[in-house]
Amino acid sequence: MRKLAVLMLSAMTLSACGGGVSSVNSEALITTEAAAPTTTSTIKASTAPTTTQKQTTTSTAPAVDPKTIWTSVQGWDCASNRHLAVSARYANGTVELEFSTSPSSQGFSELAVQTAPSITPREYAWDANSTSGSSLHHLRRIAVTDLESNSVSVTLTSPTQRQVNIQVGLAATHSDGTICQANIFPNIDYESGPSLSDAVLIPDGVSVNNDRYSSFVMPEPTAQALIYSISQNDPYGPAVDENIFDYPAKLRVALYGEPTTNHWRTVADILEVLQVIAPDLDARFAQTHDEVTFPIHVTTCANWQKQTALRRFTACNANGMGGYFSNGDIQSGATTSSVSRGFVWIDNGTYSVTNLRHEIGHAMGLPHVNCAGSMMIVPDNQGQFWNASDLGAIAVHQDSRTTDKMTLEQARKALNIPQDYTWESLLADRTKVCDNPSPAFDVLAADLKSNSLK
Ligand SMILES: [Zn+2]
Repeated sequence: MRKLAVLMLSAMTLSACGGGVSSVNSEALITTEAAAPTTTSTIKASTAPTTTQKQTTTSTAPAVDPKTIWTSVQGWDCASNRHLAVSARYANGTVELEFSTSPSSQGFSELAVQTAPSITPREYAWDANSTSGSSLHHLRRIAVTDLESNSVSVTLTSPTQRQVNIQVGLAATHSDGTICQANIFPNIDYESGPSLSDAVLIPDGVSVNNDRYSSFVMPEPTAQALIYSISQNDPYGPAVDENIFDYPAKLRVALYGEPTTNHWRTVADILEVLQVIAPDLDARFAQTHDEVTFPIHVTTCANWQKQTALRRFTACNANGMGGYFSNGDIQSGATTSSVSRGFVWIDNGTYSVTNLRHEIGHAMGLPHVNCAGSMMIVPDNQGQFWNASDLGAIAVHQDSRTTDKMTLEQARKALNIPQDYTWESLLADRTKVCDNPSPAFDVLAADLKSNSLK
């Protein structure tokens, strides 16, 4: 199992925060039972690949993709034993459905084409590191609006620039409230969608002033800042490795899903301050999608997404998780830098801007801390903006003298912090690291607060 760090926040609820994901519920969103072929002889011949007759008689004919053959949808998972009589095929990027009679006349009040990533193993699909979080946008239901017709077609266009293969099914709601689901196609490619080479479109009104904090002079790192930066004093979760979190990739950000202008502005506020506390990142919005090393995904979670057994791998967690940061499989994702900085998922709820600042704090290296006023405390007494200690600790992680995975002792030496009485007393009582002894960070934190989206 590849390493996966999931750090989560719920600003106002009681969800557990922290804790890695090590297993996946085997319950599938879409059943994987294969659709049975229809009974007409011509179709049957084309969809029976195990017969020796097919092997001998089709040796010179081009292979027929079974997805393109009309097939009766079978294998309904349906508590009331109701199911929709329908045949399906997939051709030219379009799901085509033929009903025996219209869905409405069969007693169904809602119908959706339901998709989910088909990447295997499933665990990787749902921790989503292999696609830097993009695959999770492919868990969706596309409503069929016309329930009076005997046939409908739904063209499947990739919702993301980074495309994945998907499994396709149907979710049909009977007028008695019963929801019936069936798989149609276990693995298909999109034939249309946006491209990685497309420009990242930043909304009007969002701008980054890289010189906003140019008067700031970085103070030397303190013992408090270093211990704060990597020492877990997490009231909710188990401690993670106390290591420096510093990747060599430049920070190239774009937002995906359903971000609002406020999400973009919040990231712009953060990019400005990173110019002076983490200059090596060269932090900015990416110009094209293939340049992105740090994607931020914002989603408005539908109730059905919160209820699926797969919710723990999205921000759509019914237990109140508002977002998460993942740095697992950090080597994949970015194509131009060869190194990704992980990704963030945010549920577009009431506290999503606060959650976003918190999760980017994780991405900059910060753990949870038990210090009032920090963005990184969960959930009580949380600040609304990175405070002086948060800023000083990010500077430690991104200091040019510290490198990824350095231990506390290695980082102390690298930063020339003396192993004196102050150091030892801070280690003995880590509540003392909440103090920020660098006035320059107090000024910067106050400026950041006044300049940030309220
Ligand atoms: Zn967190």
